[in-house]
Amino acid sequence: MELDLQPLNLPCSTERPFIIAGPCSAETEDQVMNTAKQLAGKGFHVFRAGIWKPRTKPGGFEGNGEKALPWMQMVKQETGMLTATEVATPEHVELALKYGIDILWIGARTTANPFAMQSLADALKGVDLPVFVKNPVNPDLELWIGALQRLNGAGIKRLGAIHRGFTSYEKKLYRNVPMWQIPIELHRRLPNLPVVNDPSHISGRRDLIAPLCQQAMDLGMDGLMVESHCDPDKAWSDASQQVTPDVLDYILSMLTIRETVDLTASLSTLRKGIDEIDNELIDLLAKRMGISREIGAYKRDNGMTIVQTKRYSEILDKRAAQGVLKGIDAECIKKIFECIHEESVRQQVELLR
Ligand code: PEP
Ligand code: MN
Repeated sequence: MELDLQPLNLPCSTERPFIIAGPCSAETEDQVMNTAKQLAGKGFHVFRAGIWKPRTKPGGFEGNGEKALPWMQMVKQETGMLTATEVATPEHVELALKYGIDILWIGARTTANPFAMQSLADALKGVDLPVFVKNPVNPDLELWIGALQRLNGAGIKRLGAIHRGFTSYEKKLYRNVPMWQIPIELHRRLPNLPVVNDPSHISGRRDLIAPLCQQAMDLGMDGLMVESHCDPDKAWSDASQQVTPDVLDYILSMLTIRETVDLTASLSTLRKGIDEIDNELIDLLAKRMGISREIGAYKRDNGMTIVQTKRYSEILDKRAAQGVLKGIDAECIKKIFECIHEESVRQQVELLR
């Protein structure tokens, strides 16, 4: 289903991409005003702060709720910035509207729940505000699109998406793995929907924000949502990923914005998808080689031969059959696995030297 969209029409400086900046949470009036004034001083136009915070475990800071909403009004009055916050329930929507919040976003945990999404869509009927939908915590493009469709069905036309990465069991470099192919495919499916990148929640680490911002720009994303706090180390939530307004300004000033990457051109979009998948293939191959070296060490320590012919033929036959089920020629799969096996053997032999 095509979405019935209108442009977001949000303010943006000419030197930078569209940016939403502000702390993870609205903690105190001082922290909100101090951060907002610094951001406004650096020419930012849209201020974010979480009023209701979805926390993985109970006991953490869950947001100030309604008490913090007058601070957002103050931000608007004193700095002229537009304000944005996360809503997760119809009650949040009602309060956000009551206090004149300008932009709403739906958090990753809420997007993942169709019941919650439908009740938000119902609460937003007849409301003309820009609404951003973060990707669901799980890598499910259809669920993300479904959430957007529910809002659009309720008449919300100024819609945007926020790519904040996906939960994985294995914690590695990133707090949430980016899986860039998913927002790229979203863009291919809905070319008129603006997609904003959130490097703060992808990385979980402030030192990775700059390279992620650059990558998002290189992939043709339409803007960035970055967490910024006047005193990041003392933040009540997500301290390790927040940067001061000064640092944010510096990071953005270092970005290279390349000639408009025309992501709507479907060829370049598809090619980016291929690049992402190739990166993943190489990572997986490296992982496979790592296990293969462990097997090599086991064989060496137990006096076994390196090539176990029975296992090798089994792999080739099974993989060829699996490939055929996915529409790939058996001979092609065999060739690929012969190559992989050859390299595995080379790496195991090296262990004997
Ligand atoms: C946030 O933006 O502070 C937040 C809670 O994000 P997410 O829904 O992406 O986890
Ligand atoms: Mn946060």
